[in-house]
This record gives sequence, structure tokens and C-alpha cells, in this order.
Amino acid sequence: MNLNIKDKFNKELPADPDNSNTRRQVHNACFSYVTPRKPSMPKLLHYSEEMAANIGLDSQDVKSSDFLKVFSGNEVMENTKPYAMCYGGHQFGQWAGQLGDGRAINLAEVEHNDKSWSLQLKGAGATPYSRTADGFAVLRSSIREHLCSEAMYHLGVPTTRSLSLMLSGDQVMRDMMYDGNADYEKGAIVCRAAESFIRFGNFEILASRGELETLKKLADYTIKNHFSDIQQEDKSKYLDFFREVTNRTQEMIVHWQRVGFVHGVMNTDNMSILGLTIDFGPYGWLEGYEENWTPNTTDRQMRRYRFGHQPSVALWNLVRLANAIYPLVEESKGFEEILNQYQVNYQQAYADMMMSKLGLENKENLKKDLIPNLIEVLQLSETDMTIFFRKLAAFTKEGNSKNEEIDFLALIKDAFYNPEEIKDEVYLKWQNWFESYRQHLQLESLTDNQRKTKMNAVNPKYVLRNYMAQLAIDAADNGDYSVINELHTLLKKPYQEQLENEKWFVKRPEWARHKVGCSMLSCSS
Ligand code: AMP
Ligand code: MG
Repeated sequence: MNLNIKDKFNKELPADPDNSNTRRQVHNACFSYVTPRKPSMPKLLHYSEEMAANIGLDSQDVKSSDFLKVFSGNEVMENTKPYAMCYGGHQFGQWAGQLGDGRAINLAEVEHNDKSWSLQLKGAGATPYSRTADGFAVLRSSIREHLCSEAMYHLGVPTTRSLSLMLSGDQVMRDMMYDGNADYEKGAIVCRAAESFIRFGNFEILASRGELETLKKLADYTIKNHFSDIQQEDKSKYLDFFREVTNRTQEMIVHWQRVGFVHGVMNTDNMSILGLTIDFGPYGWLEGYEENWTPNTTDRQMRRYRFGHQPSVALWNLVRLANAIYPLVEESKGFEEILNQYQVNYQQAYADMMMSKLGLENKENLKKDLIPNLIEVLQLSETDMTIFFRKLAAFTKEGNSKNEEIDFLALIKDAFYNPEEIKDEVYLKWQNWFESYRQHLQLESLTDNQRKTKMNAVNPKYVLRNYMAQLAIDAADNGDYSVINELHTLLKKPYQEQLENEKWFVKRPEWARHKVGCSMLSCSS
């Protein structure tokens, strides 16, 4: 196994001088050196071929004992010095102080094909930032992270990636629903990959402590290595940096809304400075379209991180980041302009995205209530988001039969969880919406077929439905890892018709409606 190691973060930024692995507050440093804990019997369960190729590894490399040792944390690669990052964060709206990589350890940065990848083990033991927790991860949450990060990538959503999924061979104690029923679960280790794992919280912790020199070093480092288009040397570079982070964050959120992804814990420590989806914990996918839905049981009361609130939470988080880097600029006007612009840009990007989901191209012809009315009708009776948009692509400008009023119903009936509810006023509202939609289509120049092709390129047919991940987990708990591979393969081509995989293009089965792990998830992972 030959990796082209090019470490930057731990070479260019200030390290914690204390090398002991004891839990503590770490000052004036961006990271602490820490060695992964040796797992007792590591076993490779699955890996991403594409991600391996990204760092220059082929299938022989992945099957080598070196790979098993390095990516389970058993052995540290020559000339590398693994470390955990120091960051803070606002959790559920409150400043939480120092958090840091409590169960993530960065192994090294690798360069391949002109791209740089930071490789990080999640679940490889405690670090100085573990606080009261153990530094491990369980198999169920590791399967969810591994599958979802690769699925997001193939959906075209900016995301961190996952190279490998291993069993550690150790048992980990968890109280899955925080209800006093703790039990042992299998420990696992995922190797994540991203250009960088720097978060909003890395800046916030330094600003909160008034460690402005280190803050400046981190900002300069981030700009130089990850925002290299920003060339100027004066203070304006920090504003350009902030604008770019804001734009990338906004783009990421529009993608989440497009595919129906709910992150579940949008704390500022879970916001990537590169605008990548990061930290796949109690996330979930919309099945029935519902703006108020959140999978995270910890957030059941407030629903702070519900689907429809993600765009404003992102803005709230960006304000926290603006506050953190403000001392480098010492003028608020520029920040305010960028933050105000976020709202304008978001609205535009959201409208463009929704138009693309509907196969509409001509903004001048868009009536202002078409999209809001759709959001309303989708929520009148539980309607599966993925199935609805996919089936909608077959709608025609002219209608197929004389009986046009039932046309639309036949088309999208598979998306309704309770088809018997589509009557009376609900029916009429749907009918009105479809009439308006057809009028829009008639003003467009695309043929039905052209529109269908375009719509199918933005409306996925296959997403990692909450129950699908749970099926992979249940099978894995019984020693059957084939479902992990089946879903991983399926989700590499989420926009393609896969006739052999129609069984995954169905509504959530009823047994999954209230099952733990399917619609209800906790942060315990
Ligand atoms: P999360 O909610 O997973 O984003 O985690 C918030 C903070 O808690 C981060 O600093 C994590 O590193 C830390 N953390 C979460 N789970 C564990 C664990 N099992 N052991 C140590 N630290 C953890
Ligand atoms: Mg986190």
C-alpha cells in the first residue's frame, strides 16, 4: 500500500504541547497528537472502490494486511502523526464550549491526482476531547455513516466520503434511546475522507477564548490551502473567505432540500467550512413530505433541525461563524451584507432548484404560487417525496385521455400513503395544482420526453430510506453484511432506472413507521 502522504494541518498549525491522552481543555492550539487505540480483532466489512481509487489504492491494496492495520487504527503509518482537532460549537442554540474530535482521529493527508484528502478514523478510541464519552462508535451508526456519505456523493450533494467500514472486535456499551436500557453493541470504525474536516467550531473555539493569533493562523491556513482563489493579503480576504463559505453552505442546503435529506444535528460543530455534509448521526430522509419532520428524537420537542428549518439554521450558524472571524476584520458591515445576501441567494437558488424538479425552465412564466401550492398539497395527505417527483416526470402537457381529471391521480397514486384520503377538498386542491402545472408546461418548449430526462437527472429514484439503512444494520447484527453491499451498489446510480431494484422504489413499509432506527433516532452512536 503506497500512499502519497502530504500532511499540512499538523505541520502548519500550532499543536497542543501536551502529548498525553488525557481529557482536558486545550488552549492556543488547533489539535492534539493522539494515537488510535488498537482494536482487538479488526475485520474489514466494506469499502468504497471509488474512494480507494481517489487516494490511489486498488482492490489488491485494500485486501492487504497493511490496509487492515492502518484503517482500523492498529498501526500508525510511517512519517505520520495522527491527531484530534480542537473545536467548539453551538449545540441546539447554546454555546457549548470546547468539544473537539472526541472520537475522530485524523491519520494523514494524502495527495493523488492533484487532489488532497484528509483521512480520519471515527470510533478509534478516546482523545483529549472525549469529555465523558468513550471515543468509540457502534456498528449501526457506522453503517449509516458509511452508506449515507457515499450515497450523498453519488446524488451530487457536497459531502465527506467514506473509505472503509471495519468491525473493531470490541464491544461498546450504549443506551440507544437514553431510556436506561444500556446494552453492549459491536464496535466499528469508519475511515472518512474529505479535503478537510475543519468546521465552523474550529474558529469559534479560538475566538471565544480570545486566542486571536491562533485564530488568524487558522484562517490564513484555511484560505491558503482550501480557498486558494482568494489571493489578496489585506483584511478583505477574510470577508471573501466568509462570502465563499456562505455560498457553499447555501448550495449544500439547497441540495439537501432537493433530495429530502434532514441532517438532524446542525450544530455549528457539525458545519464544514468547505460546505460539505458532515457528521452523519441521527439524520433521515423525508418519506412523507413534511416540512416539520425531524428524525432526531433528542430534538422532538423544539424541532430546531426540522427539514423546513434547515435553511434558516444554516444562516444562524453562519452568523456564529461571522462573529468568530469578526476580530480579524473588525468591521461588521461586510459581514452583514453577505448574511443579507444569503437570504436573497437562497430564495433564488431554492426556486431554481424546485423549478428543475418540476422540469420548468422559464422563470418569467413561473406563477408565484405554483411552488408554495405544491408544498401545501404535498402535506395534505402523507405523500412520498421521492416517488412523487419521480412519477411526476411522466406527466404530459396535453394529457393522455379524455378523462383528464383522474389522469394525475393514476400517475402519482403510488406516492400516497393513504390513497383513500385523496377525495373532496384534498382531491380538488391536487387537481387545481395539476391544472396550473399543465398550464406552465404548455408555455415551455421542452417536449414531454426531454422534460422527463431532465427531471430524472435531479429527482433521484433511489435514496437511503431510513428503513433501508436499518435493514442493512439488522442483517449485519446477524453477521450478514450483504445488504450493506447491495445498498452501496444501488445508491451509486440513484438517478438511473434499475429494473432489478424496483423493490427499493417503494414507500416506507408500515412496520418501519415507528420503529427505532427507521423514523426515530437518537444521538447515541
Ligand atoms: P456529535 O453530536 O456526534 O456531533 O458529537 C458532539 C461532540 O461529542 C463531538 O465533540 C464529538 O466528538 C463528541 N462525541 C460524540 N460521541 C462520542 C463518543 N462516543 N466518544 C467521545 N466523544 C464523542
Ligand atoms: Mg459532530
